[in-house]
Amino acid sequence: MTVELISVGTELLLGNIVNTNAQYLAEECALLGLTMYNQTVVGDNPRRLSDAVRTALDRSDIIILTGGLGPTEDDLTKEICAEVMGCPLAEDSHTRDRISDYFKNSGVKEIPGNNWKQAMVPEGALVLDNDNGTAPGLILVKGGKRAILLPGPPDELIPLFVGQVRPYLQKLRPEVIVSQMVKICGVGESRVEEELLDLIDRQANPTIATYAKTGEVHVRITASASTEETAMKLIKPVVKEIKRRMGMAVYTTKAEETLEMSVVRLLKKFELTLATAESCTGGLAAGRIVNVAGASDVFHQGFVTYSNKAKRKLLDVSKSTLKKYGAVSKETAREMAVGGAFAADSDLCVAITGIAGPDGGTEEKPVGLVYIACCLGDKVTVERYQFKGNRAKVREQSVVRALDLVRRTVLESQK
Ligand code: ATP
Ligand code: MG
Repeated sequence: MTVELISVGTELLLGNIVNTNAQYLAEECALLGLTMYNQTVVGDNPRRLSDAVRTALDRSDIIILTGGLGPTEDDLTKEICAEVMGCPLAEDSHTRDRISDYFKNSGVKEIPGNNWKQAMVPEGALVLDNDNGTAPGLILVKGGKRAILLPGPPDELIPLFVGQVRPYLQKLRPEVIVSQMVKICGVGESRVEEELLDLIDRQANPTIATYAKTGEVHVRITASASTEETAMKLIKPVVKEIKRRMGMAVYTTKAEETLEMSVVRLLKKFELTLATAESCTGGLAAGRIVNVAGASDVFHQGFVTYSNKAKRKLLDVSKSTLKKYGAVSKETAREMAVGGAFAADSDLCVAITGIAGPDGGTEEKPVGLVYIACCLGDKVTVERYQFKGNRAKVREQSVVRALDLVRRTVLESQK
């Protein structure tokens, strides 16, 4: 079954807003096992919108339109779709009541006259009640083709999709689609693809797709079957095989678990506490850890030690080390980690020192050079990285590697 998207709005064409709806819907449709070959962005122009709708209905089974369902003159999506599909508009009393309730609940006494336009519904359309706005979603069916109309604001569109459109689309397909994520850290996308090449080449059901994120690779395994159980049975051995091949680089198989969540989970599990000592990342690593609810159980303290003076004062890095090897060195990273764990009285401390750029690089120590150290008890691991990219990228990659080093240090210690 094919689906395509039409995003309506001149502000999208002008680049005033990012088309996050298309990204969201495309991913959701893929998860539902629908095939998408086309996406269109079209301005608030009746002729061009009508052409886009006609073309889309011609080549796809389902079209999803977003935006242009508002009360104003330039909101045309419903009117154009109704015209192209030959469904005249008529007032829907249920929607009229809902609009009136919506305004009453929002404390508005005088309902703007043009809002009643939103109570006009194409004949035979399925009305999807919108709890977060006045424009209902609509599903029009004609000659085996379906047009699904959704409001543009994401905080209206997403709940409508999750609550009503997704179940509707699931019912259209006799098969269920189930997917599972394997999240990998510390290995590049091409290495992951190389390791999984034969699995990827052989894929049919389940399918395997890799996505590169900063410092991470996510692998999604998706199967379709008559029941969820059967689909899971198809997925399980593939996940197992990927885990076997990638070993410790796999940090989770839960789609919702982030790297920092998995770090906090492991620290809790083994009852270990953590501190951070950061130079070039200036607190980003601590920030990622604190993103996780319940981090206070395991996170003691974060040091932002940007200057040599701070490194000496707060982390007791020796003057001679700084002088002999410099602030960006294996030796300084090591002393930062050890000093940080001592000062924070924590089991572990991860330290980051590097040259984020764009200035400050030398031939010997170029921009992107970062040392990351992690200590646990007497054991200190120091890693050297040469990252590519701008200042923000270098800092972001450093944090990912630092979190990963904590994770691996904890796992190694439990072997
Ligand atoms: P409204 O009733 O608010 O006018 P609408 O259904 O008519 O809703 P639009 O007028 O097209 O939708 O867009 C309203 C707002 O929704 C935009 O200003 C923007 O913030 C958001 N929006 C619209 N389309 C998209 C999109 N494709 N991706 C992300 N946000 C969007
Ligand atoms: Mg609008």
